[in-house]
Amino acid sequence: MLTVQKYGGTSVGTLERIREVAKRVAKTKESGSDVVVVVSAMSGETNKLIQMANSFSENPKRREMDLLLSSGERVTSALLAILLTEMGYETIAMSGRQAGIITDGVHTKARIEHIDRTHIEKELKKGLIVVVAGFQGITEIGEVSTLGRGGSDLSAVAIAGALEADICEIYTDVDGIYTTDPRIVPKAKKLKQISYDEMLELASLGAKVLQTRSVELAKKLNVNLVTRSSFNDNEGTLITKEEGIMEKPLVSGIAIDKNQARVTLRGVSDKPGIAAEIFRKLADEGVNVDMIIQNVGVDGATNLGFTVPQDELELTRKSMEEIEASQSLEFDKHVVKVSVVGVGMKSHSGVACTAFDTLADENINIEMISTSEIKISMVIHEKYGELAVRALHDAYKLDK
Ligand code: ADP
Ligand code: ASP
Ligand code: MG
Repeated sequence: MLTVQKYGGTSVGTLERIREVAKRVAKTKESGSDVVVVVSAMSGETNKLIQMANSFSENPKRREMDLLLSSGERVTSALLAILLTEMGYETIAMSGRQAGIITDGVHTKARIEHIDRTHIEKELKKGLIVVVAGFQGITEIGEVSTLGRGGSDLSAVAIAGALEADICEIYTDVDGIYTTDPRIVPKAKKLKQISYDEMLELASLGAKVLQTRSVELAKKLNVNLVTRSSFNDNEGTLITKEEGIMEKPLVSGIAIDKNQARVTLRGVSDKPGIAAEIFRKLADEGVNVDMIIQNVGVDGATNLGFTVPQDELELTRKSMEEIEASQSLEFDKHVVKVSVVGVGMKSHSGVACTAFDTLADENINIEMISTSEIKISMVIHEKYGELAVRALHDAYKLDK
């Protein structure tokens, strides 16, 4: 039996919390399972490092950012290994490089290309507990890389996949996946299980409880993923294949993404190639464009709107400077995206109407809409974001 456990920032936020983590790891080892632990930096640490860099430079080189940010996870991995050793458990801490995590060269947003499993396996065979610093890897030319915010989830899933672990447990500060962020709707309900696809939508639509790419990879590698709390022993949420879930709810959850900004281009010439030019530029810069809306053209001109992550707005602004249509650019940071997610939508109609009715009843104006087979997303003014989440949660009776 092999268990991979990942502990997030709040779970290792203080020395006392690290002691609690060590106890849980020890208990798992005692139960007869081999254990690989993946740790985040202590909560707030990554943000603090970013702030320090920004006090010297608005646009620090990404290579140096990676070297800087990867340090947080090294601290916790070493501390936990020191403690476990002291408790009498033979343990070894590893950085991303030492764990054989090979990534591409896109600094601060690197993708894992493969994992050389021999490094971890060798230690497991000797009976050691292996503690890996999450969120980081090494490029083919030996540069330190990081995997994007929340990336320790991805480290854990990738390691679980590479080692064919029996289970990958993600320990955090909530009991599992809820129908919506329990900080916004305290009466939100914990889900016993959720499909990879729904979780993928919830994560990519703003539920930061799991990093989107980690869910993507878990689905691809069929990793048995469980989210649970490091603060209690409650049963968590299993993220699994849709076929494994007996009762498919119409709507599983509501997500809110506050890291959104809307870009509008007015009076763009309505001719072939304009959209291609704009979105090629943005893609080249690595901007994540989301909702795209183009109106029907009038008199040879049209309006084009799309959303980007708020923290990529500067990059968007810069990369659009040379585009002919850029004179008519407008930016709006005061928006949020609220989404309703559920596999049941595939086979039922009327789900979207309920969402629109609900927001209308609250007098909330919907600025943009997009849908897929299993989700409806709406961009609204930020001041109504949490109200919309609560109203939608009630409308779909998710607390029942
Ligand atoms: P960690 O530091 O352990 O990685 P995160 O802060 O990244 O933890 O993620 C946990 C947080 O995700 C919770 O505290 C909760 O506020 C938030 N969250 C958002 N949506 C949900 C949801 N649907 N279910 C559970 N938690 C959610
Ligand atoms: N420490 C990193 C972050 O805050 C990675 C993680 O916690 O998963 O984004
Ligand atoms: Mg996280």
